[in-house]
Amino acid sequence: MSKQILVTGGAGFIGSNFVRLLLETTDWYVTNIDALTYAAHPTVWSEWSTRKNYRFMKIDIADIEQLEKAFDVTYDVVFNFAAETHVDRSIEDANAFVRSNVIGVSNLLHLVKQGKAKKYIQVSTDEVYGSLTAKKKPFKETSKLSPNNPYSATKASADLLVQSFYRTYHLPVIITRCSNNYGPYQNKEKLIPKIIEHISLNKKIPIYGDGLNIREWLYVEDHCRAIKKVMLSGKVGEVYNIGCHQERTNLEVVRFILNYMGGKEELIEFVKDRQGHDFRYALNYSKLSKLGWMPLVSFEEGMAKTIDWYVQEQNS
Ligand code: NAD
Repeated sequence: MSKQILVTGGAGFIGSNFVRLLLETTDWYVTNIDALTYAAHPTVWSEWSTRKNYRFMKIDIADIEQLEKAFDVTYDVVFNFAAETHVDRSIEDANAFVRSNVIGVSNLLHLVKQGKAKKYIQVSTDEVYGSLTAKKKPFKETSKLSPNNPYSATKASADLLVQSFYRTYHLPVIITRCSNNYGPYQNKEKLIPKIIEHISLNKKIPIYGDGLNIREWLYVEDHCRAIKKVMLSGKVGEVYNIGCHQERTNLEVVRFILNYMGGKEELIEFVKDRQGHDFRYALNYSKLSKLGWMPLVSFEEGMAKTIDWYVQEQNS
């Protein structure tokens, strides 16, 4: 049966990939709202504008009056991707992050509480758990929230707000916490698009510290499928980790891309480490596996597709 869906942040990296997944695999009616900040892709959100089951509205979720305009129908599901996401920017100025990531979420929850949506999915991050040492076991959904930078602190705040609306008002909410994503449509400020661009232009690639910080890298389409799975089969009130056990140091990621693109190792330039730089993130996602989801794209395959996509976009 067709559904009314609201996607927030659907002009950004993961949100736009998620909108595409919904439009390609369902006949659901998708409303995409986005404030079109610097992080939004300039055109992707307009690509589907001729479709009858899609509309785009430029809306800031932190502005309740604007947001109310998007709730002119009752939604079956609201997926909240909208957020300020760049850790380095949050270290420069946390206020924009509090505004979008906390006040924006509070506004959405307020409207869901008024009965304007039947389910709410909060797209969160592994960064809310803080940092792991090399030998520690991956985080579980029950691990303590211990964010270390303003970005992750605002995402953890949002998770707590969402959980409080479940406990206080029995709102039908689910939280997903995913590891690092890579794939098409990410802003050039982020690590992987930046590395690809710098290699293409034969520019130095700045790497924080010794480059040995570890992240778990999931291809964006696998993340999007996981969110859809959680919406269809997940239990209200629960948290689901989304991971893939594909851990790589930043240096390994750079070397993979250099090797694929035929770039020179001398382009790597180690720069002063990020303040409060988390050493390692890793997730135990067995709870989600039990719902029947698993990652389908290997690091090597996903990274090859990603590099090809950015090189083509640069040349078009
Ligand atoms: P992104 O920065 O690429 O996109 C975010 C989008 O939200 C942008 O289009 C931006 O314009 C929009 N936005 C920001 N503030 C807004 C506001 N106040 N109102 C409306 N729209 C607003 O981010 P992303 O990487 O696609 O991340 C999407 C979500 O997934 C975020 O909530 C993030 O915390 C989470 N997440 C990201 C990753 C990752 O590796 N990128 C991993 C786990 C979780």
